[in-house]
Amino acid sequence: MEVLSKTITQVLDFVSQRILFLNSYTLLGRFLKIQPVNEKYTMNDEQLLRYSRQIMLPQVDIAGQQKLLNAKILIVGAGGLGSPAAMYLAAAGIGQLTIYDDDNVDLSNLQRQISHFTKDIGKAKVTSTCQTLNNINPDTHVIAVQQRLAGEPLLREVNDADAVLDCSDNFSTRFAINKACVNRQIPLISGAAIRFEGQVSVFFPGRNNSPCYNCLYQENGEEMQSCSENGVIAPITGIIGSIQALEAIKLLTNIGDALIGRLLLLDGLTMEWNMMRLRKNPSCPTCGKTD
Ligand SMILES: [Zn+2]
Repeated sequence: MEVLSKTITQVLDFVSQRILFLNSYTLLGRFLKIQPVNEKYTMNDEQLLRYSRQIMLPQVDIAGQQKLLNAKILIVGAGGLGSPAAMYLAAAGIGQLTIYDDDNVDLSNLQRQISHFTKDIGKAKVTSTCQTLNNINPDTHVIAVQQRLAGEPLLREVNDADAVLDCSDNFSTRFAINKACVNRQIPLISGAAIRFEGQVSVFFPGRNNSPCYNCLYQENGEEMQSCSENGVIAPITGIIGSIQALEAIKLLTNIGDALIGRLLLLDGLTMEWNMMRLRKNPSCPTCGKTD
């Protein structure tokens, strides 16, 4: 009986601490309405609570969270990388996510493409991803387009975004996204995963003498190795997609050191991470002439 009453006291203590914590943010919310940090978007009490674990980070704070709520991110591909990236970005409170993918959900996708569920088989991937994101966070405005992004729409979407996540699975799309990002000077967060291996880098045209994707890979018509032919272990896509989301948040809030000019490589079998320095190629056909 004594043990039980001690446990109840501990639970009550815990709850009252929580209530104190919530109230401090509620008061903060009232204060903010008088002195908004950013006039475009003022968080309500519910949002202050939803994002409280990010806001309490001094590097993020209220101002950083408001930047995220005002941000627009373009995600190309709603598969193995796009799923976790989009889910974390929605959860973190990105204001607008635009997602392009021309594919439908297949049973063989579900092992790693975690924004789709068994009930979604046959649906457009962008539709099931959109539903998942709405369930995670109704604050995030999701624009879902079932289309392979190329040409003029690609330039328009890149131009409208604060950052672009390349979560695609083919070289032609990757080179086209890179060209559009260089053209519009928009940061590109590029990820890839296959077998037990993953890699991620950030290309930020015009910033810190950043290389571009084309400085790293040559456009020679080579076919990209695919997961359907080579296989991929499920969590590798989750790890790389999550890093892409983190890099996007860092860029938008201007915190930490982005992976600009660095290629992060993961060997999931040995669990060794390697960092490769990347240099801008002065004769790069994409970025060599623009800067
Ligand atoms: Zn380049």
